[in-house]
Amino acid sequence: MKDGVLIAGGGLAAQRCCEALRAHGFEGRIRVIGDEEHPPYDRPPLSKGVLTGDRDPDSLSLRPADWHEDHSVELLLGERAVALDPGIKTITLASGPTLSYDAAVIATGSRPRALPGTEHFPNTHLLRTVEDATRLAATLEGGTRLIIVGAGFIGLEVAATARRRGAEVTVLEAAPAALSRVLLPELGDWFVSLHRSEGVDLMLSAHVARFGEGPGGAEWVQLTDGRRLECDALVIGIGIEPATEWLEGSGLETDGVRADARGRTKAADVYVAGDAARTFNPVSEEHERSEHWEAATRQGAQVARAILDLDPLPTALPSFWTDQFGHRIQLVGDASKGDEVEITGDLEVPEFTAIVRRGGVPVAGMAVDQPRSIPRLRKAIEQSTAQGERSTDEVPAPN
Ligand SMILES: Cc1cc2nc3c(=O)[nH]c(=O)nc-3n(C[C@H](O)[C@H](O)[C@H](O)COP(=O)(O)OP(=O)(O)OC[C@H]3O[C@@H](n4cnc5c(N)ncnc54)[C@H](O)[C@@H]3O)c2cc1C
Repeated sequence: MKDGVLIAGGGLAAQRCCEALRAHGFEGRIRVIGDEEHPPYDRPPLSKGVLTGDRDPDSLSLRPADWHEDHSVELLLGERAVALDPGIKTITLASGPTLSYDAAVIATGSRPRALPGTEHFPNTHLLRTVEDATRLAATLEGGTRLIIVGAGFIGLEVAATARRRGAEVTVLEAAPAALSRVLLPELGDWFVSLHRSEGVDLMLSAHVARFGEGPGGAEWVQLTDGRRLECDALVIGIGIEPATEWLEGSGLETDGVRADARGRTKAADVYVAGDAARTFNPVSEEHERSEHWEAATRQGAQVARAILDLDPLPTALPSFWTDQFGHRIQLVGDASKGDEVEITGDLEVPEFTAIVRRGGVPVAGMAVDQPRSIPRLRKAIEQSTAQGERSTDEVPAPN
């Protein structure tokens, strides 16, 4: 392997891939192309501790400063990959050079969706990078009137931290329930109650008609029912999209790259991990995007094993956590697919677990401030779906 492994994207999945390659004895060249100026860093604190001020933005690196040099990992920071040619095995950088590889890993992650019509307002915020979080944190203080568009996990986390900073927070959600893409309404309703009890004005079925512009940017938002809400800053939290448009012309998908459960794409020696991936799930038998930390970690390691021709890690249930108003909320499995929820514990305290079933079979679980119940929920779901017993080798190759 003269050219070694070339990783496009310098985030979590890239970092975990580097670590696993070295841990398994790979001695070849590893290069990471990252368009940010920072070595790989952790994003979850961006909507939590960095916004509250409890976490120093300089403390987010996934590894100590000398790790990459010590492990002979070349970081090409501030460089953007703009083209992949699997035929001649090269990746081209925006700055000009074309780099050859023996194995390429796509780990370019995702980016927040912009809301058309708000991009030009100087007081509009999207949240993905440490600079985004630092800029938003600077606007949050007692009395700031913050409007958040979208009651997804990022929107709700920002709402919770902004309230802690004393901001007046309104969340506008177009759907009739919060988190409706990922949770059954019963559980989404619990999030709504939690936020309202903490003083967030969370509006469901709220459709934005237009924005009023002043010298500082957006000054008010008008809803389709005529209500007008004043604001000092806007946060757009309407979901993310894979950062894979740069693969146009490569023959790979530009809306999330399809891969088998080991991260192998349809192009020889090209792999994908993390938010950029649409990975085959042998349980649902679909290619799915994950958008979560644990999946990026696992897929980074999985890809390293595939490159080195090692046995794959067994498949794992998707899992996720979110911190809101001091509560640790954990999810395991796919909670969007159930048809009934059984709650054990107290929704008001709150301290409870929820088992989500489909046709009587457990498919997902959620725990609020009950971390020790997660292994039990995971086991119940794995047994019911036989997920733990399926080897990733059994999955069909991507088409
Ligand atoms: C604010 C926030 C809070 C979160 N909180 C949680 C949480 O509580 N729990 C949870 O499970 N998950 C959370 N996540 C999600 C989790 O952080 C992501 O799933 C994870 O970071 C994905 O890792 P990745 O390596 O695929 O992508 P990223 O970490 O996004 O890294 C991709 C990197 O590639 C760079 N890049 C993009 N395009 C190019 C290009 N063409 N060339 C070179 N470089 C490029 C990007 O700038 C970025 O640096 C959160 C995410 C955010 C943004």
